[in-house]
Order: sequence, then structure tokens, then C-alpha cells
Amino acid sequence: MTSRLTVLAGPTAVGKGTVAAWIREHHPEVWLSVSATTRPPRPGEVDGVHYHFMSGEDFADKVGEGEMLEWAVVHGRASYGTPRGPVDRALAEGKLPLLEIDLQGARQVRASMPDARFVFLAPPSWDELVGRLEGRGTETAQERAVRLDTAKVELAAQHEFDHVVVNDDIRRAAEELVSLMRSH
Ligand code: 5GP
Repeated sequence: MTSRLTVLAGPTAVGKGTVAAWIREHHPEVWLSVSATTRPPRPGEVDGVHYHFMSGEDFADKVGEGEMLEWAVVHGRASYGTPRGPVDRALAEGKLPLLEIDLQGARQVRASMPDARFVFLAPPSWDELVGRLEGRGTETAQERAVRLDTAKVELAAQHEFDHVVVNDDIRRAAEELVSLMRSH
């Protein structure tokens, strides 16, 4: 039985990665796609588990060979993409596949797989999003300003999605997403 792909996108700092990590830990029945990226691993990140870390050259080869279902340069810094083969296999095997990707990637998937389910993870409010980005402390003030500009544009794209899940609480939002994935 083939299943339906779910794509989770949302603005920067909304907590997509945290929701995905919660699902990885608590919902082994969900098949989470492992993206390729040209950025270096952060402490604790494992190649093949969190990302497939690769050089810009290898990434470009994969794109050229048509092996990426979608790909994008995120925050102007590194390339990220979804390897196509594993997603096709997960769908053919009837698994519950989930992609956690940025908005540009979600639009590409919409163009090639319009039957997929598109879920937008939204912050409870704009102030909350600003607070989360500042609290994270991983970006400089200048980077934060760039990301907030991007976030404004990204928030305006909510209506392109089939569902909006508000990330008021990681566990609650993750459970809502998983129940959407299980519904027909
Ligand atoms: P990070 O570097 O913090 O792990 O991820 C940065 C951003 O890249 C996040 O917004 C995440 O959604 C996005 N991202 C991760 N994997 C992919 C992917 O395969 N494709 C696209 N388009 N974006 C991705």
C-alpha cells in the first residue's frame, strides 16, 4: 500500500527541528527523511541520523543527477536537500513519511507531489517568535535581523498550506501533527 507524504514547514526559529526531534524520539512509526546538507555538523549531530553531511561538490552532483526531490539554499549559507530514493521507498512500503524542510523546499514538493499533505508550523505570536530567536543565542544581531525579515515573508505563506499547527507546546504540536498524518 502506498502512503501519503507529509511536509512540515514554517518560519525560522518556530521550532520545526525540535518538533521533528520529539517525533523521532516518541513516534518510531513515523519515517523521518534525513536531509543532505553542506553545512558542517554541530556538536552531537550524527552523519546519517540528523543529516547526510556532504561537500558542496557532492551536493551539486546529486542535484545534477536528479537525486534531490527538492533542495534550497537556506539563510544564504548552506544547501539543504531531500534525497529522493528513500522517500519513494518509504511511500511504496506504506510508511508514514515526514519531511521537515524550509518554505522554498515545500513549494517544490507541492509542484512535483501535489497530493502530499502540507503542514505549516506557526508561532503562537510574532513576539514569541522574536523571543525564541533571541533566546536561542546562536545568531549575531545582524543574522537575527535577516532571519526576522525572512520570517515575515514566510509567515505570509501560511495560506498555501493544508493545515496550520500552532507551536504553543512542543509535545502538543507534535501530537497534533502525528494525528494529522494518521488521518485520511
Ligand atoms: P539547521 O541548519 O538549523 O539544521 O536547519 C536550517 C533550516 O534548513 C531549517 O529551516 C530546516 O527546515 C531547513 N532544512 C533542513 N533540511 C532541509 C531540506 O532537506 N530541504 C530544505 N529545503 N530545507 C531543509
